[in-house]
Amino acid sequence: MNPIDSDNCIFCAIISGKAQGEILYQDEQITAFRDKYPVAPVHILIVPNKHIVSLENLTVEDESLIGKMVLVSKKLAKSEGINESGYRLVANTGYEGGQRVFHLHLHLIGGKKLGIVIG
Ligand code: AMP
Repeated sequence: MNPIDSDNCIFCAIISGKAQGEILYQDEQITAFRDKYPVAPVHILIVPNKHIVSLENLTVEDESLIGKMVLVSKKLAKSEGINESGYRLVANTGYEGGQRVFHLHLHLIGGKKLGIVIG
């Protein structure tokens, strides 16, 4: 199975309703659902509905899409009550960047004091 193929993509399956996910937000371009293996009290994945492998595969046409993904993340931070305490927005990119699901996603993580982790 090719993990970057949309036919075998778990996030595509969640977006289309074929696989279970706790969806918190969905519109015609973006879906957000809770991470199945949360690393913090709030851990939400914000994903484009179309299968884009990673940040590396974004094109100029996706400029407003990635902007909307960030704004949806910000709204979710507010609805989850972590907008004032603070949170982290992360896009692991490629294998060495820690990416394991090859459908672009932003991790919204918060609800506890996070360590300083760079590298
Ligand atoms: P990354 O390592 O950046 O590719 O992150 C992939 C994330 O997807 C991890 O935090 C996983 O816990 C999460 N994940 C994997 N499978 C599922 C699933 N079926 N539903 C929700 N989250 C998932």
